[in-house]
Amino acid sequence: MEAQPPSLTVIPRPQHAISRASISPNAVSVLYHLHRAGYRACLVGGGVRDLLLGREPKDFDVVTDAKPEQIYHLFRNARLIGRRFRLAHVRFGQEIVEVATFRACSDVDNEDDGIERAANGRILSDNVYGTIEEDAWRRDFTINALYYDIANFAVLDYVGGIADLEAGLIRLIGDPAQRYHEDPVRMLRAVRFAAKLGLRIDPATEAPLHHLGHLLAQIPPARLSDEVLKLFMGGSALQTFELLRHYRLFGWLFPATERCLSRQQQHYPKTLLVRALGDIDRRIADNLPVNPAFLFAALMWEPLREQQHHRQEQGLPDHEALQEAIDDVVQAQIPHVALPRRCNTMREIWEMQPRLTQITGKRPLRLITHPRFRAAYDFLVLRAETDEAAAELSEWWTRFLRLDEAGRVAMTQPPKGKGKKSKPRRRRKPRSASPDDVRPTPDA
Ligand code: ATP
Ligand code: MG
Repeated sequence: MEAQPPSLTVIPRPQHAISRASISPNAVSVLYHLHRAGYRACLVGGGVRDLLLGREPKDFDVVTDAKPEQIYHLFRNARLIGRRFRLAHVRFGQEIVEVATFRACSDVDNEDDGIERAANGRILSDNVYGTIEEDAWRRDFTINALYYDIANFAVLDYVGGIADLEAGLIRLIGDPAQRYHEDPVRMLRAVRFAAKLGLRIDPATEAPLHHLGHLLAQIPPARLSDEVLKLFMGGSALQTFELLRHYRLFGWLFPATERCLSRQQQHYPKTLLVRALGDIDRRIADNLPVNPAFLFAALMWEPLREQQHHRQEQGLPDHEALQEAIDDVVQAQIPHVALPRRCNTMREIWEMQPRLTQITGKRPLRLITHPRFRAAYDFLVLRAETDEAAAELSEWWTRFLRLDEAGRVAMTQPPKGKGKKSKPRRRRKPRSASPDDVRPTPDA
């Protein structure tokens, strides 16, 4: 990156809205502890950005000129972590305050700068310490490079972040294409902040997004998995998804899903995935928990359905078709985005879909005690919106769940004799060719 002339705008305490009362007390105490020990200590990143936007920050990151070992010795509750970025975690019960040391800005023209890079310019590790100005220039977006200084409560702006925040702009610091090459995850971050904060991406920062998606193939699947969770569990999943598709980034994360979606363009607004993401956003808005397995089950549902259908057409029994399809879809996905831990739950959500068709006898009563029943039922409810057979089933289960034990037993009685009406009748219609009509099938 080109060397920038040092330029600093200081926004004194009376001219900005950040008060110590709006910062987590633990982060304030870390800042003061560093300050009293003679180090510089600032809040930086999302915490400062969100407070200036009047939003509640997710977490508070602290930066200092103390080196990781010095931080470690200063706090009894500190732990050093990270290889790519070596930093300290200071733990207060459930809350962790991340404390990093100021780092130097990366300079691709300087091979001796101590920054480890791949042949293509991607930064592999950068533990080169620097000044606060250098630390500002190596950050991703201008709005993420603002510092709240505990020494005088001022906000320090080295990169024009305040003006961009006021204009509602996401702008990469430095040359956009180069910064994306250094770390392609910045493309996903641009999209994430645009969707979550409702900001616009500055045109120069936006332009490369359309054609640099392929760089994501270099990123370890585990890192992309973390990023996917942040993209879709931040409360703006639907909008994030639409932007990712708009910039043709989604296909580099979930290639099989992208292929299915682009084939079914006319059904797009009705896909289960779109509905699932809307549902996840509503749950997050209501402070309800969202299981990452549910997200991944929805993200990979379209290719799973296609694979399963394909195998059924080849004459494979339904149960085997489903098992093989699950294995295939999972194997094809993991080189791109690793599945979150406990991805067994995702399998179970899928595997329970056919079991939900078994609505007579003791099975339904047993099934509701299954630890994954709720997730599988929620998934069925989503499927119901585009699939007639699933709609019938989901209505049945919804009624069933509202009843007491006796009512449930009555509902699960098999149909008896003529003339006695028993609901619901299982439809035995041949499967239609419509892509929205893949019925769940009974277990083998
Ligand atoms: P949030 O925590 O709300 O998701 P954030 O901006 O705090 O947003 P973090 O991932 O917590 O995001 O990162 C903290 C800060 O570290 C960022 O604000 C940014 O300054 C810097 N940063 C994070 N990732 C990168 C990156 N890939 N390249 C450059 N700087 C980064
Ligand atoms: Mg953060």
